[in-house]
Amino acid sequence: MNESVLVIGGGPAGLRAAADLADLGTSVVLVERRNELGGAPIRWKYKTLAPELRPTEEVMDPMIAAVESHPLVKVYRDSVVERVSRAAGNFHITLRTNGAGAREIPVRAIVAATGFEHFDASRDPRYEYGRAANVIGIHELEGMLKESRVVCKDGRKPKRIAFIFCVGSRDRATNPWCCTVCCGVSIKQGIELKRLLGDVEIYNIYIDIRTFGLWEQLYWTSMEEYGLNFIRGRVSQIYDTGTQLLVKGEDTLVRGPFEVLMDMVVLAVGIAPGEGTAQAAKVLDLNCNSFGFLQPRHPNVHYDSGKEGVFLAGACVAPMSIEEAILAGSAAAMQAAKFVREPALQGAAD
Ligand SMILES: Cc1cc2nc3c(=O)[nH]c(=O)nc-3n(C[C@H](O)[C@H](O)[C@H](O)COP(=O)(O)OP(=O)(O)OC[C@H]3O[C@@H](n4cnc5c(N)ncnc54)[C@H](O)[C@@H]3O)c2cc1C
Ligand code: SF4
Repeated sequence: MNESVLVIGGGPAGLRAAADLADLGTSVVLVERRNELGGAPIRWKYKTLAPELRPTEEVMDPMIAAVESHPLVKVYRDSVVERVSRAAGNFHITLRTNGAGAREIPVRAIVAATGFEHFDASRDPRYEYGRAANVIGIHELEGMLKESRVVCKDGRKPKRIAFIFCVGSRDRATNPWCCTVCCGVSIKQGIELKRLLGDVEIYNIYIDIRTFGLWEQLYWTSMEEYGLNFIRGRVSQIYDTGTQLLVKGEDTLVRGPFEVLMDMVVLAVGIAPGEGTAQAAKVLDLNCNSFGFLQPRHPNVHYDSGKEGVFLAGACVAPMSIEEAILAGSAAAMQAAKFVREPALQGAAD
């Protein structure tokens, strides 16, 4: 019986799944549709990670190195699974690699770890994203922080920066779910901006602050040590004045309108299921929920796809943090390892 496992997606969840399976002696085919491993933290150049602002490399580099150097892991970059069929207990995979054509690979189990995409803020006209030059997303700010160069489009150093929380999240006109990490990530970025720019004022415009568990410390530190400002409210419209951004909205604590002038506005764009997840769902014939996330058999048991031999991991199932994605990858690896060894395990028990 073939005992290899296909892992689709080379982000935190897929990398962890691949490394754990290989460490357990299972051969792994890791398929990543982009040309680099690491998923969102590498693609968007996260400088540090919430909740402790530790360098992203501390978490991602060892996981990437582990799969790249492991003799039991074969990595295919720039590749997608085009077709899957099942016969005699094996999946037969047709893999297409850019510039190298198609190849057939038999595997015994599959882990889908296809992650997420950011909400496209240009879908919500209130924020002028894509039109006003100094309205950017938190994913774009990550790259600027990484280069230690945060400037307005005309090269000016911003003096006043507003973060708008829940863009494309908790909003029935776009996406109703909470992305779970963007409060913490925005606050983390506010602290990094204070450290980098010094005399900058940061305003966080929020509905509720959701910094779960140990991430809550970020919230306290941001106010007590860094003087970040918090406005509970909703933004109705951003106007580009040509030199600044006029942010209009309602303060829901004092129950009145507000208008503030900013040099830069950062949108805390949410986590949405991407087309990579839709592509994998189609090829693997997996269920998606009404939002487009992969739907496990039971909402509290994420790794179980409900389909024999197919396991789920990471943000393709629901919005989550890196620590949760890594745990999910490990959990799916354990289930896949048990599955590929089932005949042997049963033999040992007889
Ligand atoms: C701006 C921002 C900052 C964040 N900062 C933090 C932080 O500081 N701390 C924290 O804990 N969390 C943070 N997060 C959350 C973190 O990014 C996610 O938890 C994590 O990336 C999820 O890992 P994943 O492997 O499930 O998905 P991803 O990172 O999205 O990786 C999925 C991978 O699968 C690939 N893929 C997709 N579809 C296919 C397909 N069909 N075939 C082949 N490959 C495919 C993708 O190219 C990608 O490489 C942040 C999120 C955002 C939006
Ligand atoms: S984590 Fe915060 S910013 Fe993100 S959707 Fe939830 S409440 Fe809004």
